[in-house]
Amino acid sequence: MARRLTLGAVLLLLLAVGFVYLLSTPGQDPEIDTPPSPEQSQQPEQKKILPLPLPGQSNRDNEESEPSIQSISFIKQAIAKETEPATPLDTPAVDGVVESDAEPQILGDEMEAPSRPETTTLSYEIKNGDSLATIFKKHGLSANLLHRIVHSSDTAKKLTDIRPGEMLYLDLDEDQNFYGLRLQHSKIDSLEITAVEDGFKAAELSREVEVRTNHVSGTIENSFYIAAKEAGLSEQLIMKMAGIFGWDIDFALEIRSGDRFSVIFQEDYLDGEKLRDGTILAAEFVNKGRSYRALLYTDNTGRSDYYSPDGRSMRKAFLRAPVDFRRISSRFTRERYHPVLGKKRPHRGVDYAAKTGTPIKAAGDGKIIHRGKKGGYGKTVIIKHGQTYTTLYAHLSRYNKKARKGNKVKQGQVIGYVGKTGLATGPHLHYEFRVNGVHRNPLTVKLPAAKPIAKKYREDFKLKIQPLLSKLDLINRTLVADAE
Ligand SMILES: [Zn+2]
Repeated sequence: MARRLTLGAVLLLLLAVGFVYLLSTPGQDPEIDTPPSPEQSQQPEQKKILPLPLPGQSNRDNEESEPSIQSISFIKQAIAKETEPATPLDTPAVDGVVESDAEPQILGDEMEAPSRPETTTLSYEIKNGDSLATIFKKHGLSANLLHRIVHSSDTAKKLTDIRPGEMLYLDLDEDQNFYGLRLQHSKIDSLEITAVEDGFKAAELSREVEVRTNHVSGTIENSFYIAAKEAGLSEQLIMKMAGIFGWDIDFALEIRSGDRFSVIFQEDYLDGEKLRDGTILAAEFVNKGRSYRALLYTDNTGRSDYYSPDGRSMRKAFLRAPVDFRRISSRFTRERYHPVLGKKRPHRGVDYAAKTGTPIKAAGDGKIIHRGKKGGYGKTVIIKHGQTYTTLYAHLSRYNKKARKGNKVKQGQVIGYVGKTGLATGPHLHYEFRVNGVHRNPLTVKLPAAKPIAKKYREDFKLKIQPLLSKLDLINRTLVADAE
């Protein structure tokens, strides 16, 4: 038994020795004595990124001649770099400008990427009267550079449209060399310019906004404005809402205690924070027990408007009140003792008390047929709307320059300003509405409406407004339940 084991061990030993011998004889040890290859002997010098020329440096003329070997290698390197993800303002690059003091050399592919130069981002808030030229000058950047940026692309050209309040961020190194800029139009929109090896790259960027739907409702005690503010509606949404119902409800004069409102609207969010109010999708106003509902509908051509649930347009040919409701302090009675004439006489219009200078709007589209003094009316404007209607605005302090006799006016266009010319004790607008020459009460006259929803959109309209109507119903139920 022991003999067989010894024999096996000897055989194994012989095998192992033979194996080692075979390994060591034929080849060479790969680690020693390899002659150097030509590429490796020439260690590429780390090349610095070449910035744009400083203002005043004029290598502009020769830079457009044939590219040197050096610039070719540089382009190669830039192309290689493009595969890496890059954030626009962080990517250093050059403008194809190559200075000729360095030794020309061919660089191998394995060359290390050049280290990114330290840049600083300077922020500048654009002020009134600023131009890019003055801003560039202020930061030691040349007019030539600006010219080349602006003319590098159509997108870059938009850079010239700067507005006060916008922010401009300039990416410069410590030697004032330009690497890029960002013109921030708003929290959402910006224009970025990045210096690249053959010019400039321009991009318009827009951040994505998250749209959420919200709703607010409230009951009015004395002022819609106050109630809406308390309910959390912004000034902008209050005015939008008054605009939607402004043809049906006189917000200055007809609001009663107990009136209520609900509004479903969109809000734009950015990074989880509310950025601004969006569109009103649906709203309801209950005025003196009567409910008005408005629903936004957009047809397939992209036209949007507000309609009642039965498809009638919320817009009318005339505004109920020709003065912003927030500006009106009171309304006078229709028949009254005339304070100036000292006797009772019928009052043929509505008087809106407001401060001198309050803008007066044309109640509807039309043509100015009178502008001038008119007895007790003082300074007066009369607008003719088609064949049937005329509106009159009296006691004006002054006219709007554009509201000349014979001129066409659009609904809502300012035609003059509240005053107390003629027979008036205090500043107010005297407003008359005539149908075929007959005075009518502008507060109650039935006004011609804009076109209802087109027949071909009826089905689609009904389908789309259903969820909004259900939501309004739901809000109403909670509102009523809360009040009880
Ligand atoms: Zn009057």
